[in-house]
Amino acid sequence: MKVHEYQGRALFREFGIPCPPDVVVNTPDDARQAAADFAEPVVVKAQVLVGGRGKAGGVKLAQTPDEAAEKAEAILALTIKDLPVEKVMIAPAADILKEYYVGLTLDRGARAIILMVSSAGGVDIEELAVTEPEKILKMHIQPADGIDEAALTDLLTQAFEREPLITQARETVHNLLRLFLEKDCSLVEINPYALITEDELSALDSKINFDDNGTFKHPDIEALRNDEEYSADELEARRVGLSFVSMDGDIGCIVNGAGLAMATMDLIKHFGGEPANFLDVGGSSNPEKVLNALRIILNNPRVKAILINIFGGITRCDDIANGLLMATQQIDIPVPMVIRLIGTNDAEGREILVKAGLTSSENLTEAVQAVVKQA
Ligand code: GDP
Ligand code: MN
Repeated sequence: MKVHEYQGRALFREFGIPCPPDVVVNTPDDARQAAADFAEPVVVKAQVLVGGRGKAGGVKLAQTPDEAAEKAEAILALTIKDLPVEKVMIAPAADILKEYYVGLTLDRGARAIILMVSSAGGVDIEELAVTEPEKILKMHIQPADGIDEAALTDLLTQAFEREPLITQARETVHNLLRLFLEKDCSLVEINPYALITEDELSALDSKINFDDNGTFKHPDIEALRNDEEYSADELEARRVGLSFVSMDGDIGCIVNGAGLAMATMDLIKHFGGEPANFLDVGGSSNPEKVLNALRIILNNPRVKAILINIFGGITRCDDIANGLLMATQQIDIPVPMVIRLIGTNDAEGREILVKAGLTSSENLTEAVQAVVKQA
C-alpha cells in the first residue's frame, strides 16, 4: 500500500524526523490562503501516488500567495503518469544547499533490511543507481540484531563528512528504522534529505510503502488508504473478499488458490494468450463468491473469454458449479467460458453444469488452449 507525500510526512513527524509543516488543498484559492498563512515563499507540490513529480512539472516554488494560487491551478490541471492531480501540498520553501538520499527497504536476497544513503540525492537518484551505483552507500540491518553502530558511523561519515550532520543523520536513520519496523513498511525513502542551513538537515519529500499483509495490525495506517491506488474492479473485489489484481490482457481468470492462479496465468501466456486479471476465489468458495467473481470480470470490456480453473480440495466443485449456475441465471455472460473442474465432488459439479448447459474439462492444458483460441 502506498501513501501520499503529505501522509508520509505526518508519519515522519510522529517518529521524530525533522520535516517542514505543510497544508493540503484542492483549489487555487485555498492554496493562496495557505501560502498567505505561511507568510513566506512556498513550494506547491502535486500529491499523486507516483514518484518523479518534479520532472513532470508537479513541484513549483511560489514567492507570493497569488503565485501560489497560479502554480496550484497549473499543477491541479496536470496528469502525472496517468494519475490526475486532485490535491496539492503547500509548504514553506526551503533553501536547499545540498540534496542527500536516505532509504530503507527489504533486501530479500540477503534476508535483511537494507539502508541506502547517498550524498547525491535528488530527482536523478534512479539514474545514479544505474550509472554510478558506488555513489549509493549500502548497509544491511537485521531487525533482531539492531543497527551495527560502528558500521553506521563509518557509512554516515562517508556521506555527510562532518558534524553535526552525521549526528542528525544517525538519529534520522534510527527513527526511520523504528517507523519501518513498527508500521510494517516495505519501503521508506527521504529524497531529498536536504541540507537547508549550514548545519541542518530536513526531510523535504517522503515515500512510504506498507506491506499489505501487515496493515490489518495498524488501524492508523489502514485509515490512510487511498482508493485511487486501485482500479474500480480491485476495490469491488476487496469489498466482496476476493483476491483480485487487474491486468492488461483479454482472458478473464477465476481460479481457486493463489499458486494455481499464478500457474494458470503462466500457462495462458505459454499458449500465446494474455490474462485480464489474477483472481483467487479462495479455499472454501461459496457460490456467491463465484457469482461476484464473474460480475467483476465482466465489468472489464476487454475480456473476450473466461477461464475457470478449479482444483477442488477444500473447495468443492459442486459449490463452484452452483455459483456458475446462479451466474447464468442472474447475469448476462456475453463471452465464452471454458471450465476446468477436478477434485472434491467433481462428478456432482459436472452434473450441475450439464443442467446449466455448460461443459467442462478435466485437463488444464486442453482448457487453456481452448480459452486462448476463443479469445
Ligand atoms: P519528486 O520529484 O516526486 O521526488 O518530488 P520532490 O519532493 O523530491 O521534489 C523534486 C525536487 O524539487 C527536489 O529534489 C528539490 O530539488 C525541489 N524541491 C522540493 N521542495 C523544495 C523546496 O522546498 N525548496 C526548493 N528550493 N526546492 C524544492
Ligand atoms: Mn523526491
